[in-house]
Amino acid sequence: MFDNLSQRLSGVIKTLRGQARLTEANIQDAMREVRMALLEADVALPVVKDFIAKVRERSLGQEVMSSLTPGQAVVQVVYQELTLLMGDHNATLNLAARPPAVILLAGLQGAGKTTTAGKLAKFLREQMKKKVLLTSCDVYRPAAIEQLRTLAQQLETDFFPSEVGQQPEKIALDALDFARKHFHDVVIVDTAGRLGIDEAMMDEIKRLHAALDPIETLFVVDAMQGQDAVNTAKAFSDALPLTGVILTKLDGDSRGGAALSVRQVTGKPIKFVGVGEKVAGLEPFYPDRMASRVLGMGDVLSLIEDAQRGVDQDEAQKLAKKLKSGKSFDLEDFKQQMQQMKKMGGISALMDKLPGQLSQAAAGAQVDDKAIGRLEGIINSMTPQERRKPEILKAGRKRRIAAGAGVQVQEVNRLLSQFEQTQKMMKMLSKGGGMAKMMRGMK
Ligand code: GDP
Repeated sequence: MFDNLSQRLSGVIKTLRGQARLTEANIQDAMREVRMALLEADVALPVVKDFIAKVRERSLGQEVMSSLTPGQAVVQVVYQELTLLMGDHNATLNLAARPPAVILLAGLQGAGKTTTAGKLAKFLREQMKKKVLLTSCDVYRPAAIEQLRTLAQQLETDFFPSEVGQQPEKIALDALDFARKHFHDVVIVDTAGRLGIDEAMMDEIKRLHAALDPIETLFVVDAMQGQDAVNTAKAFSDALPLTGVILTKLDGDSRGGAALSVRQVTGKPIKFVGVGEKVAGLEPFYPDRMASRVLGMGDVLSLIEDAQRGVDQDEAQKLAKKLKSGKSFDLEDFKQQMQQMKKMGGISALMDKLPGQLSQAAAGAQVDDKAIGRLEGIINSMTPQERRKPEILKAGRKRRIAAGAGVQVQEVNRLLSQFEQTQKMMKMLSKGGGMAKMMRGMK
């Protein structure tokens, strides 16, 4: 995500940081670079202009010029302004309505509304302990209703059925009535989208809004659409009193423009971002963390939160105990770790949050999600004894395992050397000294 933008901006930052003294000309050069990078990332022109003007003014002011490390001070200004551009804090959902709180989702077809409805239901249930009801007012596409029903089933969340041809307002009001009677805290209403802005669609969603009076009206938009996303956002925000935006497909190769412009253009905060097709792929949006990612400085806070959420604490404790008792880390443990990594959204999601240099190093090591699947396949082809005692794996056994997993023997060897590295790291960790020592060991 944002690879190009991030690379270019971190380049500017590196140059700025290296400057012992800053002149107006230095700043001018840096601003030109930033401007180009933002435009290439598809950030809306007025937003870029405004941003550059603010950064330039502050950079030439006292705060930077009188700083002992002016280069660093400009970087700080860029970071702060970038954060402000996306909103200054994490805007949470407002559910303070007389229950049930209604969340209305609006957006074009294919933006990711239905998927997001499911993701939100999961988030509200697991993170906020809410009882959620899902319903679809997309009365034009039976597949859309079916998609939500299936998602609800998968999530074990209540679903209020609807049928093609019914009146959207009637469905929504019936769902609301049902939710009141069954003590749901939140009703999430998915709506029909069209391929482009069209008057009939806008009228329909306006009527739905008037009938439901939702406490949250969230505009769902595909970040990969760049400038188009921003134009659509503007049209929806003119038609409806939006309370926030959910930016989807941020895991794709979005250039970043939508994320950086949508707040400024609509005046509405981004509340969540979608980062994958799976139901777990939804994250609350933190402007400061995103700014840090965009500048190639990583998002270590989110990484830690992911780890806390994703890692099965029981498993982690079991492993710690085992290592403490002097037993060594084996291939079964290695497989467990890979499974945990997958639960945390896969390697690609994690790499996105690492600071630029580390993330590139990880990419160089060619660890991707597909590779994890293959590694698991190889371990699955081993006998329990082989997993516990990898040292018995000689040529004959390796050939058998490779054939079983449908890979070349070299891949088995590669897995074993990755495993050995991890085993070494685990040894260092379990001997005490913890993280700091491990980092030193990695150098
Ligand atoms: P709707 O027409 O607005 O309801 O859109 P859908 O929910 O059906 O989503 C359209 C497509 O986008 C589906 O293939 C989804 O799996 C995919 N999608 C939705 N959100 C995300 C996301 O955050 N990341 C990725 N990669 N795909 C997504």
